[in-house]
Amino acid sequence: MLCHACYAEPALVPDCVHCHGSGRATSMPLCDDAWNEVVPGLFQGGHDVRSQSASACVVGAEFDLVVSLATRPGYGPAAGVEHVVLRLADAAIDPVTAVRVDEVAGRVAVALADGQRVLVRCSGGLNRSGLVVASALVKHGRTPDEAIAAVRRARGPWALTNPGFVVHLRGLGSEDAHA
Ligand SMILES: [Zn+2]
Repeated sequence: MLCHACYAEPALVPDCVHCHGSGRATSMPLCDDAWNEVVPGLFQGGHDVRSQSASACVVGAEFDLVVSLATRPGYGPAAGVEHVVLRLADAAIDPVTAVRVDEVAGRVAVALADGQRVLVRCSGGLNRSGLVVASALVKHGRTPDEAIAAVRRARGPWALTNPGFVVHLRGLGSEDAHA
């Protein structure tokens, strides 16, 4: 887990007062909101929030498409809502996983282009959902760093602190440049 302030960037980490130069974080707080809008129509969220309400993260019919990277019984979405489930570990990305993430991100990008409301969710709504949301934004023409920044603006500084996910996202940009 990377420090939420310097993200272990080599130029920043030696002087970082939050992690005292280690680049690492010791704990990750929950978000306040069940989901947040990253760009118009595209929301990122999770199953756990700081809220005391047990139903805060239950999805009804708020969205046209829900992508769940983790699932829990009783958390929706409502019947009739398109629901794509891809169980994804918050770990390093192997080539098979990379293909699956790319497929799901493509589906999100198409839905977004069609004007649909899309929710991408995982457990905390920080890393796995951020990976898919940022991948979809890159497909929409954002640079990886712009996409990562958009996710962190929406979900806070703890979003996309999985260094493997960040490396993977930055690689997407160079793939596109060579295509
Ligand atoms: Zn730091």
